[in-house]
Amino acid sequence: MTDSNIILGAGLTGIGCARHLPDSVIYEAREHPGGHVYSHSQGGYHFDEGAHICHATDPDWLDQLYRNAGDVVNMKQSRVGYYWHGHWGTYPVQNHLRDLPVELRIQALKEIVHAHVDRDEAIPASYADWCRSQYGELLTERFYREYTEKYWRMDMEDMDVDWLSGRLLPSQLDRILHGAIAPMEEKQSVFATFHYPARGGFFAFFEPFYRDVDIRQGKRMVSVDPAGRKVTFADGESAGYRNLISTIPLNDLVRAMPDSPDAIRKDAESLRHTQMIGVNLVVRKPALTPYHWFYVYDRDIDVSRVKVLSNVIPDSMNGHVTILQTEIFRRDDEAYDVERLKAKAVSDLSELLSFDPETDLQSVDHVIASHAYTIPTLGRQASVDRIHGWLADQGIYSAGLYGRWKYIWSNQAYEDGKKTALALKGE
Ligand SMILES: Cc1cc2nc3c(=O)[nH]c(=O)nc-3n(C[C@H](O)[C@H](O)[C@H](O)COP(=O)(O)OP(=O)(O)OC[C@H]3O[C@@H](n4cnc5c(N)ncnc54)[C@H](O)[C@@H]3O)c2cc1C
Repeated sequence: MTDSNIILGAGLTGIGCARHLPDSVIYEAREHPGGHVYSHSQGGYHFDEGAHICHATDPDWLDQLYRNAGDVVNMKQSRVGYYWHGHWGTYPVQNHLRDLPVELRIQALKEIVHAHVDRDEAIPASYADWCRSQYGELLTERFYREYTEKYWRMDMEDMDVDWLSGRLLPSQLDRILHGAIAPMEEKQSVFATFHYPARGGFFAFFEPFYRDVDIRQGKRMVSVDPAGRKVTFADGESAGYRNLISTIPLNDLVRAMPDSPDAIRKDAESLRHTQMIGVNLVVRKPALTPYHWFYVYDRDIDVSRVKVLSNVIPDSMNGHVTILQTEIFRRDDEAYDVERLKAKAVSDLSELLSFDPETDLQSVDHVIASHAYTIPTLGRQASVDRIHGWLADQGIYSAGLYGRWKYIWSNQAYEDGKKTALALKGE
């Protein structure tokens, strides 16, 4: 009997690969499939690992997701806000300057116009340079830098710009001028319209993909022997492979290969990521905020972003509660105290949204994602390319969010797995 194709990780990249590669087996460390798109049931509601929504536009993909989930909310115009030192405004800040106090509005506008006139077409050296060239000094320093420190846990000067496409858009002067003078519907943001399952959380979009696929759960891969074409798991079992496709974190894969060269180990150890502590609140008061989600810029508030589940799928709720799914980020090398973060999140949000944490709180729970975002540090892509080159020499394919160590959306993760399978089949 020949060995199977082994896929490490049952996230969307893993399942996209398995569904297009016959005779494949997925080995997954956790006791459930889905990876980052899994939804956790807590107190009767489903909470995702970080705020997930679908804003894909490919009709075939959407059609498949709609069939998978059954009942789906299609929000035609998202309402996204921000909180900044006592002010609420429409996100992104640069497109809605009229929400700022007048003196800041004038200064920001002047700087943005200058930035447009002086803009240099050369690729900016860092995220800090990119922000200044788009939004000017005030918005860069007082909004983007403050948020970057909370969200990315890095200095803007140490961050590359290759992650911006599809997440942050270059400034458009006519929109900015409009938004400084009069209210404007936010059409520019990538999230202007979105889709979300009416029930079951984000994972309802994908759960049917996992039927009829051979998945072995609770199988954490701990070592790879490329010469013997064999992987070993934490429980001591081993399995031989014909092809090995890994969607697990690239640095963990290198660590599992004791014969990897020092230079490759060094590259692997240079890769940084964030962890996410999601604090989930059910508040016994309806409609505490109009937003589908909002960002919190203030440095002294740990929570970076809040998805308001009760506004995203209002018809699936009883109408008497506000459901808040919050995100707090820490770098991979930072320690944190979950209970302290939970207590602080409750206290901060009760002030922001005016509820009484003693009497109005129905439940508070949490979800942890040990790997949230890959951090786009300078030099990261060169390190990833060297690791991939070396893995290819060992006959190993690494794909997906943490396999490429580069941010991708859920649909892109599935597509990356499918593309890897087709390449292996020579299609
Ligand atoms: C906070 C956050 C918010 C996001 N929001 C959105 C959104 O709104 N919309 C959207 O489209 N996308 C969003 N994404 C992106 C999307 O979730 C990912 O692109 C996608 O889920 C990645 O899938 P993957 O299979 O590549 O990786 P993963 O989902 O990470 O899957 C990898 C799998 O490998 C397993 N594994 C790890 N180590 C081992 C081991 N040693 N042995 C065996 N298995 C192992 C893990 O348990 C995991 O199941 C978001 C991502 C994050 C982090």
